[in-house]
Amino acid sequence: IVKRQGGNNLAYYNDVDGKQALVMFQTEKALRLGLERNELQLYLQSQLDEQGQLAGAEALVRWQHPNEGLISPGLFIPVAERSDLIIALDNWVLQQSCQLLANWQQQGRKLTLSVNISPRHVRHADFVSDITHLLDLYQLDATALVLEVTEGILVEDIDASITKMQTLAALGVQFAIDDFGTGYSSLSYIRNLPVQELKIDQSFIKGIPLHANDVAMVTTIISVARQLGLRLVAEGVETAEQNAFCQREGLWAQGYFIDKPLPVAAWQQRWFTP
Ligand code: C2E
Ligand code: MG
Ligand code: MG
Ligand code: MG
Repeated sequence: IVKRQGGNNLAYYNDVDGKQALVMFQTEKALRLGLERNELQLYLQSQLDEQGQLAGAEALVRWQHPNEGLISPGLFIPVAERSDLIIALDNWVLQQSCQLLANWQQQGRKLTLSVNISPRHVRHADFVSDITHLLDLYQLDATALVLEVTEGILVEDIDASITKMQTLAALGVQFAIDDFGTGYSSLSYIRNLPVQELKIDQSFIKGIPLHANDVAMVTTIISVARQLGLRLVAEGVETAEQNAFCQREGLWAQGYFIDKPLPVAAWQQRWFTP
């Protein structure tokens, strides 16, 4: 090993890969333990309808690590997605979300709750039963549950995934395509999916109203979505102008202009106290 360190590029790169693999492995181990030790936390971010009224929220997971503090999902979801650990994580978020939604429904609140689902979970044999079990357990009006999937579900086992989505859609569950516009799928593909909503990726919303390309892109998505009868949600709404654009164009809005993701208790405090 000592000999190979002498400017041997191959050894050098192998070494970096080894380090990265080790970090991944350690993170995965810690996350598995963290899940068991209840270190995950549910955050909510509001979605406003075209009138600017609260219509629902997206559930976003955080990891409250005992030493590292609050860790954002961008750092641990990709690690979880390398194995079936993501299934356990998704199911934790789903259970918390369905329980919360049941509370809201008992209180007579007509809000949707959107939950992110990894493509790996959609492909998993238990996906449909994971969802139906929770719908049953909490006696949910399934139409308030929105499952956000990415175009990543179109890469493998497409037909099986569509069949599963159709099974759940028949029960009332809604599906949204998350980060829409960043993937490789064509709009004609979306037409074949049982999807009610497109979430326009924040990278396109950033350019509104100044960047003509982004405006053109979003305008095109809007016109196609209209024709397909899909609801549109703009993510990453950060300015009053972007918010006004959403209302003018009939889009739901989600982003820091409205609120940052908040822990469930704080979110409910903010939106439910009269
Ligand atoms: P996403 O589903 O596209 O979620 C939107 C992300 O944009 C969130 O980041 C949110 O905090 C952030 N965001 C919201 N408004 C704004 C804004 O105005 N400006 C900017 N710059 N960012 C904004 P977050 O919470 O870090 O989540 C990142 C990604 O991690 C999510 O992207 C989603 O793909 C994944 N994720 C989060 N929670 C879960 C989960 O429970 N399960 C799974 N499978 N994935 C999750
Ligand atoms: Mg999402
Ligand atoms: Mg998104
Ligand atoms: Mg995104």
